[in-house]
Amino acid sequence: MTSISVKTSAHSQGVDITRQVAQVVESSGVADGWCEVFVPHTTAAVAVNEAADPDVIHDIINTLDKLVPWQGGYRHAEGNSAAHVKSVLLGSTVRLPVSGGRLSLGTWQGIFFMEFDGPRSRKAWVDVR
Ligand code: ZN
Repeated sequence: MTSISVKTSAHSQGVDITRQVAQVVESSGVADGWCEVFVPHTTAAVAVNEAADPDVIHDIINTLDKLVPWQGGYRHAEGNSAAHVKSVLLGSTVRLPVSGGRLSLGTWQGIFFMEFDGPRSRKAWVDVR
């Protein structure tokens, strides 16, 4: 298991971590298998989506903000329930194929650390087998 550090700089943000995950895969020595990325946080998530046009992640973040507004009559006293809800909607794990010693993503796909209560110092755990 390898830990990746992610420093987020905004309250809600998608950080492209594809390169860091690919480096873990390439140094793992695994030729064919699976790479799992796990985010050990309750107000963040991990997602796979288009990395070519940064407007896509921007649109996803904006849409999530509309679906799950920050003020919503929540009970959780910490005041960040919207971030918890977005985290559970997107999920804390993605599983990615490894082929020929490399991440096997679709042409337009990238891996994003999804911050919903930043900015913070975060991490993601990567396991390849
Ligand atoms: Zn909370």
